Amino acid sequence: MAQDLLAPPKFKPKSLALALALVCAFPVGLCVLEVRRGSWSWTELAWRLGSLFVLCIAVMMGNASLVRYAKRVTPQRMPYIHAAIAVLMGVVIVFTLTVSLRGTMLGNAGPGYLFMLPMMVGMVLAQGGWGRRVGESLHCPTCEYEFTFAERDAPIRCPECGTPWLGMLRKGRRVKSIKMMVSGISIALLGAFLFQPIFWLGPLARILPTPILYTALYMDPGSSLDAWDELTTRSISATSTRSLARRVAAHRLQHQWGSAADKWFEANVAAGKIPAEIKEHLYGQSFATRLDAPKEVQAGTPFPVRLQTSRAATGLSSQLAVMFAGYSLDGAEPVGRADEPAWAHELRPSLFGDARINFQHEFRIDTPGRHTIRATYWVIFQPSFWTITWGPDGTPIRPAAATWFERSDLEREIIVK
Ligand SMILES: [Zn+2]
Repeated sequence: MAQDLLAPPKFKPKSLALALALVCAFPVGLCVLEVRRGSWSWTELAWRLGSLFVLCIAVMMGNASLVRYAKRVTPQRMPYIHAAIAVLMGVVIVFTLTVSLRGTMLGNAGPGYLFMLPMMVGMVLAQGGWGRRVGESLHCPTCEYEFTFAERDAPIRCPECGTPWLGMLRKGRRVKSIKMMVSGISIALLGAFLFQPIFWLGPLARILPTPILYTALYMDPGSSLDAWDELTTRSISATSTRSLARRVAAHRLQHQWGSAADKWFEANVAAGKIPAEIKEHLYGQSFATRLDAPKEVQAGTPFPVRLQTSRAATGLSSQLAVMFAGYSLDGAEPVGRADEPAWAHELRPSLFGDARINFQHEFRIDTPGRHTIRATYWVIFQPSFWTITWGPDGTPIRPAAATWFERSDLEREIIVK
């Protein structure tokens, strides 16, 4: 491997195109799946795939010019060419992982993939430094024995180790470049460190200037609890607070598994610094569900009615509870009420699931015609898993510490034949 880095790049345009196709196949498949699930529109798919395609073309062109340039370069400089090619491939990988997967479960799994770029470059340089070659002499590919023979009386095999060496001789004496190795390893480590705020944001939060702390948390709102605690103690402008709050709300709706920014958000809500529409965005859209019932049923035949929940986003210091009041047929007394609150972990779909079914109830309608089924529930946020009870009037008793308390109704029409 190390020695290949001293030879000119061998990637033919065709194999590069194949490699790019393989790298892109997975995200492209995932994108199409997202469209079929209904999470994305076709336009969204088109711009993601379009930009990926443009990027691949640019990479192919960049690679072609690097390969041309490599023909004029000495072996000891060759690792830089390979490092540049690694950057090109890295850009494609980082791009597919961040942009084309953005908004999906996988794309949001980590704090970004930018750290892979310096890692790739650093590794290539370190390997290049390990096997660097200098000068015009020729050597055995296996044991480095120097080829000092005239063309006509050269032995077919290396006299030292017996490797058939004609046509496979390496140009240049092998000299490790400590400088190249050290710089490669430094680039890899430093890059991985800097691009992963998770490594430094927490411990350094207390001494970081507010703009840097703010930017790092804006980039990666899920990263560090300590850093959010620290930001809560800093004073930031009203405009900055609002735009960070917007970012936090958007992030939380994509990450149903809690968010480190929670306490900061709550503190600013309590201080009246967060406008109602952002609060509404976060709490109001935290619970996404639809009423699932058949469109047509036969009179007298039982059928199930249920909620299909696609999102139940909760936080660390605010818990989502749903108080389900039941289903009401044509305005009659509701049936199927849940006595206890249902919490986010009981409501949200599994990691790769689309929706989770809750509050199923069986109905039977005997009179043909059009009927309306209505589901009524309350979405409540409160600091902990304290129980919530129903009042005598059929509505939940609002917990004293609730930060959000809102009723929702969903309706479906059913035709009975
Ligand atoms: Zn040899």
